Amino acid sequence: MNDNNWMPRFTGCLIAVFCIAETAFGQATLVSGGEVRAVVVTAAKPSQVAVYAVEEFVRHVEKATGQRLPVAIETDVPKAFASRIFVGATQAARQHGIDPNRLDIEEFTLRTIGKDFYIVGKELHPDQKFSTSRPHGEPRNPLSSECVHSGTLFGVYDVLERYLGVHWLWPGDLGTYVPRIASITIPKTDETIKPRLLYRDLGGWDLRHIHLAGVMYGKTRKPISGGFTRIPLATRRNLIFPTEEAGHAYGKAMEVFLRRHRRATPIEKPMRVPRNAHQVAGIADWWAAHGAEHPEWFALVNGKRGDVGRTGAYTNLCVSNDELRDFIVNEAWDGGDLLVLGDGDGHNCECAKCMAWDGPQPKLSDVPKMVREKYKRHANGERYARYWNDVFQKAVKKNPKVRVTGYVYGPTLPAPITDIKLDKNIFGEFVIYGGWDGWFPMSREEEQWTREQWLGWSKTGMSLFFRPNYLLGLYVTPNISVRQTGEFFKLAHKNGMVGASFEAYSFSWAVHGPMAYMHHRLLWNPELEINDLRQEYFSAFGPAASQIEEYFDYWEKYASTRPAISEVSSALEKLRRPRGHALAFPPRVYRPAQAILEKALQAARQDPLPEFAQRVKFLQAGLQHALLTTHVYEFLDYDGPEAELGTAPLNDLAKLTQARDAMQELIKFRHDPLNRFVSSYIDNAIVEQYFIRNIEALFKKDSPD
Ligand SMILES: [Zn+2]
Repeated sequence: MNDNNWMPRFTGCLIAVFCIAETAFGQATLVSGGEVRAVVVTAAKPSQVAVYAVEEFVRHVEKATGQRLPVAIETDVPKAFASRIFVGATQAARQHGIDPNRLDIEEFTLRTIGKDFYIVGKELHPDQKFSTSRPHGEPRNPLSSECVHSGTLFGVYDVLERYLGVHWLWPGDLGTYVPRIASITIPKTDETIKPRLLYRDLGGWDLRHIHLAGVMYGKTRKPISGGFTRIPLATRRNLIFPTEEAGHAYGKAMEVFLRRHRRATPIEKPMRVPRNAHQVAGIADWWAAHGAEHPEWFALVNGKRGDVGRTGAYTNLCVSNDELRDFIVNEAWDGGDLLVLGDGDGHNCECAKCMAWDGPQPKLSDVPKMVREKYKRHANGERYARYWNDVFQKAVKKNPKVRVTGYVYGPTLPAPITDIKLDKNIFGEFVIYGGWDGWFPMSREEEQWTREQWLGWSKTGMSLFFRPNYLLGLYVTPNISVRQTGEFFKLAHKNGMVGASFEAYSFSWAVHGPMAYMHHRLLWNPELEINDLRQEYFSAFGPAASQIEEYFDYWEKYASTRPAISEVSSALEKLRRPRGHALAFPPRVYRPAQAILEKALQAARQDPLPEFAQRVKFLQAGLQHALLTTHVYEFLDYDGPEAELGTAPLNDLAKLTQARDAMQELIKFRHDPLNRFVSSYIDNAIVEQYFIRNIEALFKKDSPD
């Protein structure tokens, strides 16, 4: 292989740009031959977002070129520079006809004018009042995922990716790859870019994480253990963050990383993407509210209506009941822009009318074995399509802007076989089966079937929201599926996906590598090609890029040639369980992978820049962490071969000593600041706390008293 093959793909276009004379009209030069040629300009009174966008811009340009661009306000711009880079909502931009207020939130315009360059998004001016029902979401704070007046910042990230070739692989400095270049020129540009997905959330960083790390929107706060985090102090101290400082460092890096990937949970009114919930028209517990008076509104299950053991949010209704649907629209719904119809999971109604609404049934022989059980009773997709449609048609007469939401999963997952049409203001949240059992490797049959269901629902014309659970199968092992998960995401995007929100654990950055990177990149731009994203990731390993590709291909092949989840007979290898990870990834399968990383390390050391070898060592640390973590499970007691929960072996002192020694090795590893970003220890510990009954018994250092 040619030594230069690892050079990032964008290099070619940069070189082409450099070949054009620097004085050419319509391009802006930031740095040329290692010398500063541009000044960065903001409004006289910039927004918080613009200030942060400038910091991010200058920081990355400096890392790429070694040159720090000066920053000025537009009323006082030094004359000595060939180009001015205007960042944010400035008077200069308005004078050139770029009106930030004409842009939608999160949109941005990139335009070269003469030798100047403009990056403009809609912002909240510091003097502008902005009312929100969620002030604690800090809508002006650039690090808040609820800050949607963020187009300027997103524009900067777009420029850094496109013209500097920056890749954010994982949180922290080492995970930020900025290729070294002597010159940066922005070619003639005039475009306005909007997000392809209006809701972008991979999960794995929510309130629980914020409180355990003690960081929210860039500000430190007292970390919380116990309570709703369900992580006792001993577990947090031992398995996640040994000190408050460690939590703050990880939390801040995570927030910066997620913003660089443009994560957002839009809060603006009206909402661009309505979210579903386990309630119907604002009522969570229908049985409690209406069960006594109208038992006929409730699902008939095994001859009984109503409260069949699943109360509260999971009330199942007899959706073919005409009175019920009238009541939902005329009485229960508040008449607002959102009407949630969040039932349909579990035991749906078995009355004759509902069953008739189900329409033609899928042939069970065509349904993959893994999901067949769900449809032995009846597939309810058609029924729910009719229900949503009827409620929508009634509601839209009262409020033309209404949007109706429903769940597409469980018994409602199979798409209607008829050609029923649904309005685009009906939103379905598509949940891939198997949150508990894993998802990948998915057999060819399962994958094909799941694709057909997405396409079938998409064909109805409704808007689809991707809400898979498969990242809940992540733990510490190199269990990756870049191609299968990536291609499904792209298929969904091409066929009606308006947003994505994963129910997920965060990644183990050092073992899930390209899979983590690809998911973050696709969230902002699902049009990117999977192989290009893989190559972007590998390019960050410099001269070791081809070995790193070989390395991750080894693991992807290992995952894809293991039995499909549906073929695993016992609970043991199902990867939502940590015991499953320990069994599915025995130490012997690591050896070939370790050998590839050794070769990669030799190759990376050929480059004078230490970062390439450091990244290879980071991957090596990921394997070490996987081995140390799964080793602990070897010494736990289980009630039987099918048991999921383990117990510290308190009745076997020799084994207990081994278990404690293994735990101490793991704790030592996680406490080393050099290993801070190897994995999301918060998510790992959430799993460990749940699946090891008396985990605190393992934290003692010595053999038992
Ligand atoms: Zn019914």
